[in-house]
Amino acid sequence: MTASSFDQAPPTKLSHFIGGRPFPGSGARLGEVFDPAAGKVAALVPLGGAAEIEAAVAAATAALPAWANTPPLRRARVLFRFKELLERNADELTALITREHGKVLWDARGELTRGIEVVEFACGIPHLLKGDFSDQIGGGIDSWSIRQPVGVCAGITPFNFPVMVPMWMFPVALACGNTFVLKPSERDPSPSLRMAELLTEAGLPDGVFNVLHGDREVVDGLLTDPRVSAISFVGSTPIARHIYSTGAAHGKRVQALGGAKNHLVVMPDADLDQAVEALIGSAYGSAGERCMAISVAVAVGDVADRLVARLAERARALKVGPGTAPDAEMGPLVTRDHWNRVKGYVDLGVTEGADLVVDGRNLKVSGHEEGFFLGGCLFDKVLPSMRIYKEEIFGPVLDVVRLPDLDAAINLVNAHEYGNGVAVFTRDGGTAREFCRRIAAGMVGVNVPIPVPMAFHSFGGWKNSLFGDHAMHGPEGVHFYTRLKTVTSRWPEAGALSANPFVMPTH
Ligand code: NAD
Repeated sequence: MTASSFDQAPPTKLSHFIGGRPFPGSGARLGEVFDPAAGKVAALVPLGGAAEIEAAVAAATAALPAWANTPPLRRARVLFRFKELLERNADELTALITREHGKVLWDARGELTRGIEVVEFACGIPHLLKGDFSDQIGGGIDSWSIRQPVGVCAGITPFNFPVMVPMWMFPVALACGNTFVLKPSERDPSPSLRMAELLTEAGLPDGVFNVLHGDREVVDGLLTDPRVSAISFVGSTPIARHIYSTGAAHGKRVQALGGAKNHLVVMPDADLDQAVEALIGSAYGSAGERCMAISVAVAVGDVADRLVARLAERARALKVGPGTAPDAEMGPLVTRDHWNRVKGYVDLGVTEGADLVVDGRNLKVSGHEEGFFLGGCLFDKVLPSMRIYKEEIFGPVLDVVRLPDLDAAINLVNAHEYGNGVAVFTRDGGTAREFCRRIAAGMVGVNVPIPVPMAFHSFGGWKNSLFGDHAMHGPEGVHFYTRLKTVTSRWPEAGALSANPFVMPTH
């Protein structure tokens, strides 16, 4: 698919997907979905209200008893077929991601692969639903624990991974016997609809998985609806906090992942070639619109001058273009509004007195003059007191903070409000070990810039990067989407009575 074929397509009118089929809804409010490389409207998405919430939650509620009663292995077989369909339709899904998000095609393919890995994990979930059994906990008494579905679950997802982040949630929820309402980002909603169609094609019963489009109105409706038992959220911290407090106040279990400001600490003994490549890929890949993007390089000791010189050279040479261009390393930002916000932070950094070594603000991509492109930006001599250090920018902007030693670097990271991902680059095992033990973040890399856990581990940060008790997918995901039940069982002889029924039983 070429950029021009995206440019010339008329805007598609999207529907919700409820009860196993497209559901147009009232269409009273519509949102614009952009092709960010062309700077044009690619689709119109309906923004739901009370009637659409009712339809989606009612469909998920009606489908729940039969799906929860379906043997786990049969549920897993649907997911096996879904995985095959995702692979067979990978090119189409990848193109949909690039069209509405803007990231380069091979990056979109990587996102899809990471999502498929969660489906693969979910195919084995029957193994994790087995529970525990204790024989003879007392005379003639056995006890066992099982994990049962929570009920109707809702997922609210961000724009930056329109396939992978929903798949952190729903494959696990469905494998555990729940039904699901997905509220995808209104900025790139089409991949969710395609996944809903593929689930239906894989044999998922109608109503088990539903896609409800919208903004705050539908989110608040889901948060307060008594039929919804669990809420999974990924997005920015202010919204994550709102989701957590409102959902919990309405008696739901909530996992709400928020924003990030991820640091990569470069020790003086690090392999500089490796550190530079790692920083360039993790700061500017996907135009910095990754929750695990590195946005702060911490240069320790005398490495700073060498590091900044090498980073600047590489950042100036970044290949920026439409996501469909085979040689592009970085695509556009998702919307004009977001472009303005990120550019505003670069302006702010200059005002705050940081040294703007590479300035990507005036980049123009030939043939795509209306696209939302911003070149890579590099700030040196950033201070922890500056807003460009403290706040999440979520664009292709890398800050370099210079510090004298490991202690200072660990203290800096630990004092930040976010604690999603962090990395250290060093050749010294003792330094790495101390870093891993003392650092306050949920996901830590040693000579690995983006330490995203595999599907069979769990993904989640600390501090203002996660509200709630459970990370996503892996064992934590299974615990989140199931309730524990512990049974104590006795089969006494007919007529046998305990000696004193008022006594607290002990063993
Ligand atoms: P966002 O918070 O603007 O939106 C996320 C979701 O919340 C969307 O579905 C949106 O429709 C909904 N929403 C927006 N405003 C709302 C409101 N006032 N009330 C209720 N719902 C609302 O986030 P985004 O811009 O789509 O995504 C980028 C953010 O997501 C960044 O902060 C990034 O760090 C974060 N993110 C975090 C992780 C993680 O794992 N911690 C992963 C991906 C993205």
